[in-house]
Amino acid sequence: MSPEDQTGFVNRIIGEALNGNPPSDREVIGRLFEIPTFSVESMLLQAAARQLSEAACNGKAEVHAQTALNIGPCLRDCAFCAFAKSNGVFTEEKEFPMEYLIDTMQQFEADGANALFLMTTGMYPFEKYLEKAAEIHLHLKPETTFIANIGDFDLPQAKDLKDAGVDGVYHAVRLGEGEVTSIPVERRIKTFKAAQDAELSIGTCLEPVGPEHSTGELVEKLLITRDIEPAYSGSARRIPIPGTELAKPGIVSESRMAHILAVVRIVLPLSIKGNCTHEPNAVGAQAGANLFWAEVGANPRDTEEKTEEGRGMSVPDCRRVFSEAEWDYLEGPSAFYSHAGHLSEVPA
Ligand code: SF4
Repeated sequence: MSPEDQTGFVNRIIGEALNGNPPSDREVIGRLFEIPTFSVESMLLQAAARQLSEAACNGKAEVHAQTALNIGPCLRDCAFCAFAKSNGVFTEEKEFPMEYLIDTMQQFEADGANALFLMTTGMYPFEKYLEKAAEIHLHLKPETTFIANIGDFDLPQAKDLKDAGVDGVYHAVRLGEGEVTSIPVERRIKTFKAAQDAELSIGTCLEPVGPEHSTGELVEKLLITRDIEPAYSGSARRIPIPGTELAKPGIVSESRMAHILAVVRIVLPLSIKGNCTHEPNAVGAQAGANLFWAEVGANPRDTEEKTEEGRGMSVPDCRRVFSEAEWDYLEGPSAFYSHAGHLSEVPA
């Protein structure tokens, strides 16, 4: 194929996407993923993705913020995770005190985070999560968007989450799901269904991308994120946990991730407003990422117990990175996740 043919192909796809007709053909999407990073065509895609992202969120990027109830070895054993038991990073189960969790969440609110995430390791007891989430929720502002990032759950549990004050969930069918994790893809998809049936808003992502992932797998998992009609999708790279098997293939560069993020934005309809990436970086924001995460406490990508002393960035840090890519940011609750309000907030 001549370079002109490739440019013509990309221009046609961009034109169609800007007119509300994103590509859906697997081969076309695969071809977009395979475009070299430092090519004119990739730059065209990245510029178009930025334009689409700005249109989707009215030019307002968001920063969500996460903390975790616990830290410790997880028997689900996802090979990319610092908590996986076989990775041997964290050998003892530890819970963060309630006072620390409430202080952390209130600091996120004061810093202007648009949504607050409460995470646990994959096998944390659900009833205990509910209890603690409900207690933390009582200390949040009524307008705060409150998100659960936990293991798989069924419909009654999804309804319980809703009753505890949770507005939505983060959930993903990860790259290598069922191969480098012990969780079947079907189980992950059932959780999406349970969340949707309980009217919990879903955020997801094409993650964790490593250099070894095939175009076919990127396409397959991207189409799952499209088909569940989430509040946002996007793409994030795998952060190698030192000494683990999945550290061996290395890491995808931020520049390559910017191309992948751009393809994700081009393929997803504008009804999906957010295009996340992690960890926060200006190259990705330039190419259309409009959602970053701040993190305090346990972090599955960090070997530090308190990620704020390691890889984790604060809300002001994330906003600074957005500013470097000339993004404005949203003040107030997330426009990506819907916040329906809860019975406890309705005045008697
Ligand atoms: S990603 Fe979640 S389920 Fe998998 S090992 Fe880490 S904490 Fe457990």
